[in-house]
Amino acid sequence: MGLFGKRKEPDATANAQTLRTDLVADLPTGGEALPTSLTARSGFIKRANCSRCGAPKKLPSKTAYIYCDYCSALVDYDFRIANADTNAGITNTVFHRLIAPVQPAMEDAKARGDRDAYRTIQRNVFGQWVQLCPQAVSPRAKTDEDFRSRLVAYLAETAVTKDLDPAQAPLDIEMATLVGSLQRIPTPDGAWMISGPFWEMAALFKKQMDLAYALINSTGVNELDPDDTPPGVALQMEYSTFCQGWLAHLSAPDGQRLLDEFGLTGEYVKLEPQETNEYNCGGCGAQLHAVVGAQTIICEDCGAQLSIKAGPTPCGTCGAPLCFPPSASHLACPYCKSEIQHL
Ligand SMILES: [Zn+2]
Ligand SMILES: [Zn+2]
Ligand SMILES: [Zn+2]
Repeated sequence: MGLFGKRKEPDATANAQTLRTDLVADLPTGGEALPTSLTARSGFIKRANCSRCGAPKKLPSKTAYIYCDYCSALVDYDFRIANADTNAGITNTVFHRLIAPVQPAMEDAKARGDRDAYRTIQRNVFGQWVQLCPQAVSPRAKTDEDFRSRLVAYLAETAVTKDLDPAQAPLDIEMATLVGSLQRIPTPDGAWMISGPFWEMAALFKKQMDLAYALINSTGVNELDPDDTPPGVALQMEYSTFCQGWLAHLSAPDGQRLLDEFGLTGEYVKLEPQETNEYNCGGCGAQLHAVVGAQTIICEDCGAQLSIKAGPTPCGTCGAPLCFPPSASHLACPYCKSEIQHL
């Protein structure tokens, strides 16, 4: 999650066991709506093919997590959409606030090589972070508790793998020195620009992440990912988080250079009209547009995975054509609350 420049704060009194909503209390809550240029009716989509079923992505995505229109596998991550979300900086801030008070305990566990203790701390931090910042992760984590707990376990394990890798230790020291040499240059409008060894720091971040994901993949930790993320995409998400955090503090040409260096420019293709069937999500009632031939899809509003193949089950009371999650045998109609059995 782009955890460069870990701040050390002496206050270790905070109790990380309970959800601390005070951590978000004074932060803006913007970013609820994407700019219209990037929403579902935008004219371009990122060129991507599903690594599970091979289908090209055809329908626009509301979030940066691009799911297959046919089989609901995660296909890619769209930096452009992620970057349009003004919550990006907020979620990083919340993460730093959560991690700061447990930093001494983390250092302690690290020094002892105690993976279990380190994992417990990370699960706690990520567990709270995902609850406080659901917009920072896949929409599937919104209402699917099983998905959410598997995601937290996966994120914690990636941190254990990276942070306790002896090969990272000298790089961490180098990183701390570089981050310590960065300077914030205030601008008249109150924002700040970065100066100092930024490009060395960015290159080192990339090196550390490349090393971390090589280990995550070779040790099978990637298999814990509940999204079964295609090869390379998880690393790209790390790059993306890092770039999102820094873009606001760079000039436009430097911002472009950063995206080029991290390979985040992507290729966008014109959206073609698709023949779709209209259904309603059995979880939240949202209107769904499914391509003809779709098997399972993700509802981008509530994150539910839905079976499309067998067609919808109409609500016996209000008639809404509802799609069920693959494992559900019954549900309460999101409109009229009638109990419906899956056909
Ligand atoms: Zn697919
Ligand atoms: Zn839904
Ligand atoms: Zn109904």
